[in-house]
Amino acid sequence: MRLLIIGSVAYDTVKTPFGARERVLGGSASYSSLAASYFTQVSVLAVVGEDFRQEDKALLESRGVDLSALSTVPGGKTFHWKGEYGYDLNDAKTIQTDLNVLGTFDPDVPDHLKDAPYVFLANLDPTAQMKVLDQITQPRVVAADTMNYWIDQRRDGLMDLLPRIHILIINEAETRQLSGEYNLVKAARAILALGPKMLIIKRGEYGVLKVTEDSIFAAPAYPLESVFDPTGAGDTFAGGFVGYLAKTGDLSPESVKTAIVMGSIMASFNVEDFSLNRLLTLRQEDIEDRFRAFKQLTEFSGAV
Ligand code: AMP
Repeated sequence: MRLLIIGSVAYDTVKTPFGARERVLGGSASYSSLAASYFTQVSVLAVVGEDFRQEDKALLESRGVDLSALSTVPGGKTFHWKGEYGYDLNDAKTIQTDLNVLGTFDPDVPDHLKDAPYVFLANLDPTAQMKVLDQITQPRVVAADTMNYWIDQRRDGLMDLLPRIHILIINEAETRQLSGEYNLVKAARAILALGPKMLIIKRGEYGVLKVTEDSIFAAPAYPLESVFDPTGAGDTFAGGFVGYLAKTGDLSPESVKTAIVMGSIMASFNVEDFSLNRLLTLRQEDIEDRFRAFKQLTEFSGAV
């Protein structure tokens, strides 16, 4: 079933201990939509500037991502993020955020996307996320992401959004920042009390924690020998996760667990190369092979 993603389409300048890239295609909507495209039909609602390259549009479209709701601001510049990673690849340091056209983004959902049953509000100003949600007629599942920048700059807007979403997908540091609690389980409970029914905490190479009012589920990250660039891992996870839910339409606890594994698998591919390169060359068999390997990794037959 159709998935609508709103988020950033960006140019990223990234440095990791293994290399650097300047102004390469990135953004929360780019990563999440490409990951989701392996599971379901996906449309992106986003904005870019006049500097956005036609070939980058073609890259997203090559995976069938619908860009009919991607608008270009005449004379504007595309959102630019500059980040750096040390050997602790879980810790992204933002060096510079140039909002550019994102600063005035006032998203209008085109009529043909208003009935999208699955919505992922990827990392973006919570005011814009809310505005999109207000225009969707009958969403079945609404998942959202955010980051330290917005928790800091737009806390009130985020507080208004939380009761309106089903699933919040954020990282460990953001969980602590948003809740003001250090202990992750306490932090998760505090965030659930703010509205969402389910919290998915991304913990980088330590995996993912899913917390609901009455359950906790943990999945490891797939152990990799070569990680080059963790940029977009969180968005790729979210795209794979929501994309899988949209594909199956099954929201049972077992299906949500499988969606978490699919998200983790997509993220594990993404970090193997810079920008969206790995997500663009992936084959269905690669995903299936890693799914089997992931199953083996976590299989366990002991008893007490
Ligand atoms: P991730 O590594 O999954 O947390 O996300 C990295 C992506 O988020 C990069 O491609 C950036 O372009 C994008 N990004 C960084 N800061 C922001 C922001 N304030 N709003 C929206 N997207 C952002």
